[in-house]
Amino acid sequence: DQSPVITIDGPSGAGKGTVSQLVAEKLGWHLLDSGALYRLLALAVSHHGMTEDDVESLRVLAEHLDIQFEQREEGKVDIVLEGETVTQAIRTELVGNSASKLAQIPEVREGLLMRQRAFSQEPGLVADGRDMGTVVFPDAPVKVFLTATAEERANRRLLQLQQKGDEVNYEELVATIKERDERDANRAVAPLVPAAGALVIDSTDLSIEDVVAMVLAEVSKTG
Ligand code: C5P
Repeated sequence: DQSPVITIDGPSGAGKGTVSQLVAEKLGWHLLDSGALYRLLALAVSHHGMTEDDVESLRVLAEHLDIQFEQREEGKVDIVLEGETVTQAIRTELVGNSASKLAQIPEVREGLLMRQRAFSQEPGLVADGRDMGTVVFPDAPVKVFLTATAEERANRRLLQLQQKGDEVNYEELVATIKERDERDANRAVAPLVPAAGALVIDSTDLSIEDVVAMVLAEVSKTG
């Protein structure tokens, strides 16, 4: 696994997903949306009626969960969990919040570790998450930590949800985003912190294109 990896970590709503996708497209590299794995696990745990205290079963489920990423037209990907298309279903705030609770459990993180590393293939990988640069790909030649104020992140999320036709309350959204960030930043295992040597980008006043350009500039510096 000597192919290059770009890690893009940061809190929810900082723009990691879009930036990672665009950078991967520009370079023609693979993409790992690690948050999707935690979300898929959360959905499966609820489907199977499992509890959070049976950590060994959670580890086994994390290691063996039947997940398919099916490439569709125009670069679109369908996410299939145990035969069911869940591309939209995993994107709710509820699933994100359950994912972040499961993500505190060391056995869950261990169960997903090798699966995440398996995404590192030629010609390269853009890996998006919370601990891509600190734990999963510590030797990545390019590491980015992408952030923005909680209010700005809530605004972006609000827009996304409204475009999907979801009714959301702004104050509630800010509160859940802050709650999830706090849990992600303060947990004992793989907390959300910038990796050593990471390029820290505050995207509050930047466009997606600005951020993509900054990441690509960093890549060509190390290339
Ligand atoms: O990025 P996304 O919002 O989809 O991630 C959902 C949750 O999964 C995060 O709030 C976080 O708790 C967890 N996660 C993680 N490590 C990652 C990616 C996601 O703990 N690498």
